[in-house]
Amino acid sequence: MGKPGLYIHIPFCVKKCAYCDFLSFAGKEDYMGRYASAVIEEARLWNSTYKDMEFATVYIGGGTPSFLHRGLISRVLNGCREHLNVVENAETSIEANPGTLTAAKLDEYLGCGINRLSIGAQSSSDRLLALLGRAHTRKDFFAAYRMAREAGFRNINIDLIFGLPTQTAAEWESTLEEILSCSPEHVSCYGLKLEEGTPLQKACLAGEYLLPDEEEERGMADLARKVLDRQGYRRYEISNYAQKGFECRHNLNYWDCGEYLALGLGAHSCGRDGESRLVRWENRKDLQGYIESVEAGQKPVEKTAVSEKPDEIFEYIMLRLRLTEGVVYEQYRSRFGQDFLEKFGEKAGTLVRQGHAKANKRRFYLTPKGMDVQNPVLLFLLSQTP
Ligand code: SF4
Repeated sequence: MGKPGLYIHIPFCVKKCAYCDFLSFAGKEDYMGRYASAVIEEARLWNSTYKDMEFATVYIGGGTPSFLHRGLISRVLNGCREHLNVVENAETSIEANPGTLTAAKLDEYLGCGINRLSIGAQSSSDRLLALLGRAHTRKDFFAAYRMAREAGFRNINIDLIFGLPTQTAAEWESTLEEILSCSPEHVSCYGLKLEEGTPLQKACLAGEYLLPDEEEERGMADLARKVLDRQGYRRYEISNYAQKGFECRHNLNYWDCGEYLALGLGAHSCGRDGESRLVRWENRKDLQGYIESVEAGQKPVEKTAVSEKPDEIFEYIMLRLRLTEGVVYEQYRSRFGQDFLEKFGEKAGTLVRQGHAKANKRRFYLTPKGMDVQNPVLLFLLSQTP
């Protein structure tokens, strides 16, 4: 198993988007400095647990990390590196939103070793950006992208969302074409999930907007696959596409059921206990409480769950089948000491016959058709505990 990753959560945003149920908020800028110090302090609290481990990647996510006042990102990152061992030249990503980036901030990021930028564009249609309640316009995105290239970023991801209320296939195609004309190294395309209680969900339930139906949404997913493939992007995960060599290593570790330490409000971590069992834990979600507990020298952990081996096998297969590489038999055997095909061969065979999966001598993986219906496929494959 590889080295762990380090995640740092920054919960501040310019405004709350209409579809968002992430742990993020607007209007709490006064806390930024104190929060940054708390995250560094949290890294110090984990220092003894992780003293013999090296972190291979760092990911600063949110929220909108680029909304932090200038100077705070480098302070957080350098502070965390003082307490935790991060390998030299680690893939170090930051999420940014157009409208919050400045040339000075971009220089700061590059100067403290951030080498990957993930920009939340979501759409190139101002109409849809307004409907989503995004705090930026199409023009802001292109300006931010140009500024990032000029600053020297050579590894940029762009996040997009499809299946939006009232969105047409033509609008989605034009977003894809326009975004790809910038030649980012990586593109993430997520289908919109209407989250319970969000303003957008309420508006859709009230009949204000019509959502694309399942078939239309699948058509948009197919379109993304075709357009991206044509332009040389390889799909390596259900929602992620990259030019060769630009797959996100931090996220690959998640899908490999690898270990990671997550710092910050409500952050989720995954590690191993003394008996080598997989342990997941979650930080508290109230800002004041998080800061106070860290300032009092206490880890802000709220919930912990231990996975026994069958659960870990379940999680591993679920995550690996998000990747186009799928389950590699040799890796599975060395991790769990059992043969994948002996355990799952019969059901795997059924999925192959249905066209939902493929198998060769090395691996078992889902086809695009199987990925479209990943949940029922997994349910079928894993319905019998090994
Ligand atoms: S910018 Fe991202 S995290 Fe912030 S409110 Fe919008 S979707 Fe949520």
